[in-house]
Amino acid sequence: MSTNTTAKKVKVRFAPSPTGDLHVGNIRTALFDWAYARHTGGTFLFRIEDTDTTRVTDEYIQAAIDTLKWLGLNWDEGPEVGGENGPYLQSQRLDIYAHWAQKFLDQKDAYHCYCSPDELEAVREAQRAANVAPGYNGHCRELTADQIAAYKAQGREAVVRMRMPDGSTTFTDEIRGDVTFDHKFVPDFVLVRADGSPLYTLAVAVDDVLMKVTHVLRGEDLLSSTPRQIRVYQAMGVAIEDYPVFAHLPFVMGQDNAKLSKRNGEVSIAWYREQGYLPEAICNYLALLGWSPGDDRENVTMAELCELFTIDKVHSSPARFDMKKLEAINGDKIRALTLDEFLKWSLPFLNKANVITGSDSEIALVKQALPLIQERIVKLDEVPAMLRFLFVKDFKVEEASLSKVTDSASKDVLKRSLAELTPLTTWNHESIEAALRTSLIEEMGLKPRIAFGAVRIATTGSTISPPLFESMELLGKDASLARISAAIAL
Ligand code: GLU
Repeated sequence: MSTNTTAKKVKVRFAPSPTGDLHVGNIRTALFDWAYARHTGGTFLFRIEDTDTTRVTDEYIQAAIDTLKWLGLNWDEGPEVGGENGPYLQSQRLDIYAHWAQKFLDQKDAYHCYCSPDELEAVREAQRAANVAPGYNGHCRELTADQIAAYKAQGREAVVRMRMPDGSTTFTDEIRGDVTFDHKFVPDFVLVRADGSPLYTLAVAVDDVLMKVTHVLRGEDLLSSTPRQIRVYQAMGVAIEDYPVFAHLPFVMGQDNAKLSKRNGEVSIAWYREQGYLPEAICNYLALLGWSPGDDRENVTMAELCELFTIDKVHSSPARFDMKKLEAINGDKIRALTLDEFLKWSLPFLNKANVITGSDSEIALVKQALPLIQERIVKLDEVPAMLRFLFVKDFKVEEASLSKVTDSASKDVLKRSLAELTPLTTWNHESIEAALRTSLIEEMGLKPRIAFGAVRIATTGSTISPPLFESMELLGKDASLARISAAIAL
């Protein structure tokens, strides 16, 4: 079968079934879909596959919408945006699927199947025993009117099943090349449940056709559903040249080489967001999971991704998720923020951690302090701990560092510091540093780590803080001296 390579305007869709928050794997797919649409000047369509009403909730649907927005993966057709092929929630398209299922029945491409779950299980059991491929055995394919009447009289309800002809399906996957499925392993499949609700295979194929999707880029886990979808296109009467092009993205494995799961990194994007990962960092990192720009660069902006993303640069071998690399990229993206951007991203974390209440004076001080930590953090959730000392009302030295300021050598350092700093008339990091260096390092002969360590703990409460002299400048003379006095008294 030839694939559709004519110069038709590209339309790519992202079609999640939000049965939970979107995860790394979903978002990698969304990102590649989006990037391909943007690269080709095509359309990015977003469709919610919510026909499984027992598992998809309104809350998860909204979370999926919010996540795409937060990541900057804007769509041209879909929820909230609309478009000429809507509605974009499959739960609002049930009449469309019912129409096609009926048409397939009328055409004899599909048939009613009255087999009960117990009977189907017995068939599977027999297949297992005989060591043959599992799947529906075609029992109801050619029922007579009498047999149907008898089943109905028993009160049986029917599902609608698609008839798979003998033979095989071959299609060209843009990443994997030609892929063939022998229909021996693609048994007749259910299109509509007994309660009338459509199954994924029916809805996805009907929608891809009606919504004029040209490219299906999605995870490799869906590769095996492709022959069934192609069967639906055939039954719909779609010409081969109008089938979408398929490209199945490689699996994402965890660092331990096992399939990505909660245990090895496959947590929701909401979690990464709470941890203080920037959307650009997540997108940059996910872009490199199974794709490369053609050189070994690791820093890719969204604009570069759009410019460079082509399917031929997607790998066919599995990608490996590496949390350390994601962290490193996040640190790079934080360093690349302007001060105003860094402020915008940091404030919600400071508010949430109750470090600030959000007053103008607090925000002004945060803005002065942020440049001190921009080089030092890799995630935004580190900001509150780093800056808390500037705002805290009942300041205390952290428990773990107490012993490092209460010994007699530290007390000597603090007493000398207090004596040298008290007379300073100009309070800035240069004057503070000069005073402390002369007295503690040159005159007392201490190592900087020992000398400044005690002062750091006394004034910021912790061994980890922004640079000391700048921190003391921002804290102010009165508070700095009061904290040093308090530490001496500990
Ligand atoms: N709704 C399907 C899923 O979330 C994906 C549909 C598709 O990409 O074909 O698994």
